[in-house]
Amino acid sequence: MTDTNQNYGVIVVGAGHAGCEAALAAARMGAKTLLLTINADHIAAMSCNPAIGGLAKGQLVREIDALGGEMARNIDYAGIQFRRLNTRKGPAVRSSRAQADRVLYKDRMKRVLEEQENLDIIQAEVVRVLVDGNRVTGVETEIGQKLMGRRVILTTGTFLRGLIHVGMYSRRAGRLGDPPSNDLSTCLVELGFELGRLKTGTPPRLNGRTIDFSKLAPQPGDDPPLPFSFWSNGVVQPQVPCYLTYTNAQTHEIIRGGLDRSPLYSGVIEGVGARYCPSVEDKVVRFPEKPRHQVFLEPEGLGTHEIYPNGISTSLPLDIQYAMVKSIPGLEHAEIIRPGYAIEYDYADPTQIKPSLETKLIEGLYFAGQINGTSGYEEAAAQGLMAAINAVLAEQGRDPVVLDRSQAYIGVMIDDLVTLGTREPYRMFTSRAEYRLLLREDNADQRLCEIGHDVDLLSDDCYRIFSEKMESIQAARERLSERFGSSAEANDVLTAAGSTPLKNQATLRELLRRPELRLGDLLLLAPWVADVSDDVIEALEIEVKYEGYLDRQNEQVARFKRLENASLPADMDYTGLPGLSREVQEKLNRIKPTSLGQASRISGVTPAAISILEVLMKRGGARGDRSATK
Ligand code: FAD
Repeated sequence: MTDTNQNYGVIVVGAGHAGCEAALAAARMGAKTLLLTINADHIAAMSCNPAIGGLAKGQLVREIDALGGEMARNIDYAGIQFRRLNTRKGPAVRSSRAQADRVLYKDRMKRVLEEQENLDIIQAEVVRVLVDGNRVTGVETEIGQKLMGRRVILTTGTFLRGLIHVGMYSRRAGRLGDPPSNDLSTCLVELGFELGRLKTGTPPRLNGRTIDFSKLAPQPGDDPPLPFSFWSNGVVQPQVPCYLTYTNAQTHEIIRGGLDRSPLYSGVIEGVGARYCPSVEDKVVRFPEKPRHQVFLEPEGLGTHEIYPNGISTSLPLDIQYAMVKSIPGLEHAEIIRPGYAIEYDYADPTQIKPSLETKLIEGLYFAGQINGTSGYEEAAAQGLMAAINAVLAEQGRDPVVLDRSQAYIGVMIDDLVTLGTREPYRMFTSRAEYRLLLREDNADQRLCEIGHDVDLLSDDCYRIFSEKMESIQAARERLSERFGSSAEANDVLTAAGSTPLKNQATLRELLRRPELRLGDLLLLAPWVADVSDDVIEALEIEVKYEGYLDRQNEQVARFKRLENASLPADMDYTGLPGLSREVQEKLNRIKPTSLGQASRISGVTPAAISILEVLMKRGGARGDRSATK
């Protein structure tokens, strides 16, 4: 039985994707940890699509994995279709995605949490954050139980004053089938946090037994499927196809006929939705010229017939949902098991948190996941992980880990959130990253394993595997200097691979620079390549083929780091600083940037203002107490 009288090192509220990573990371780093959640049967539930990864999100998953998180291993266990996206494009935008068996995904994560040392799990609704002055001391549950902890991480997802809509019907709920979390919202407002309102939505779920798949194009996964995790034992579940169908003119007509009862278009919904992830009614209204929209039919799992129709997220009334579904080829007789719906919920504008994810208002209180205005399992998981790392480091009296924009997508996301805030659900895109050729899926381990191991999160076993991989890369890199003459044997190999014969000597590295050649093509010249693992080969090929681009990006990073390494005092008061407009002073005071680099990304802070701050710092004027700045 959990000893509720103890003082926990870290209390995590919420067991969604942020909460699970946070609880595991804190416990694995040695903190006595408590995970509280409204319903213990819904731990790691996938509220929307049963899939992990995707463009830019796949990078987040690999980064979580490299730091010692769980998401990649969990999807490797529960994945029923794996695909690498953009394989014909450059390495910067290649990402992995996997369909999940929803039940296997949540069951495994729950088991991992239950088996984790240092971690207690309690089913309870938290209604209050307890504070002493501006320091967190614990939380209080709905039935009045007080649980004390030195650090508290809130990961409440879409639950804060959640309100769901199906047509003109609306009900308070955290998501369909779960109660909302209302009192905690009230408490946060009482503590002084500013909350806003966002909105997201989900499609109806269909009974696969009523779908005519024979009319539809199957979409198989990759063969063989490539797992997400650097430490994976491989993909274990049977792999299944998805199917593709389309909406049509009739579907669009039906949708238009239901707009007068749409909560979105009749003004019932106040929360702001994501422009990039529109509902099907949004697509029909905003893109009237489009004759059809794709609908991917994705299985929800191996043990169920339920199908997730990706592309028709909606909050239209149920009769319209039925008519709309039945107008789509293959779905003429489809039955709806669960309705599509929209949900509005409270979030806290993330300019109220520091880059460590600790709130500026309450010491020891951290926010992670959808509560910070993000959308998506991967974005949430990454924040949960970072909040826990920093909570435990703070307990240990160590500096927080703040990944910068050249180190990780996680760094890009958190920097965007805390510097710019967000007025609509924020999701990760490759276009958000300036240095995306450096932030690839394949090298997430090279970027982050040292950090994960240094904070005692990535295990020694994983770190050993990583070190061995680095040794293999180095050994293979050295062998790329091997030279070949223009022999008949070498030229036969090159001609067979569609490349031009050699006139003079060349190194393997020089040959590999040829766009048409891969290391695997040169096996007869370099038989040792057969013993090198695929990930090492991929690392070397990218290193050689993109050398010029990588060098250029590394030079840009060196310039970026100059401003990034110029720190600004956390308690700096910018009021009245000469040369800065009042607007800039106010913005700097609100965000409290930790570096000149971060200051330069605040909207409205001009290059001229940065030059002034730079001069002040050089003069030693940018001190926290401002005494020397006047
Ligand atoms: P969640 O996964 O929501 O988990 C929150 C957890 O907190 C739950 O375990 C809950 O029980 C617990 N909790 C809440 N309040 C309390 C409390 N007071 N006390 C104790 N426990 C509490 N994402 C996309 O990327 N694309 C989409 O299209 C999309 N559509 C969505 C549609 C719907 C209808 C919903 C509900 C979500 C959708 N999402 C979508 C969002 C996705 O589900 C979230 O981004 C992701 O789950 C966020 O993870 P999280 O850990 O922050 O929160």
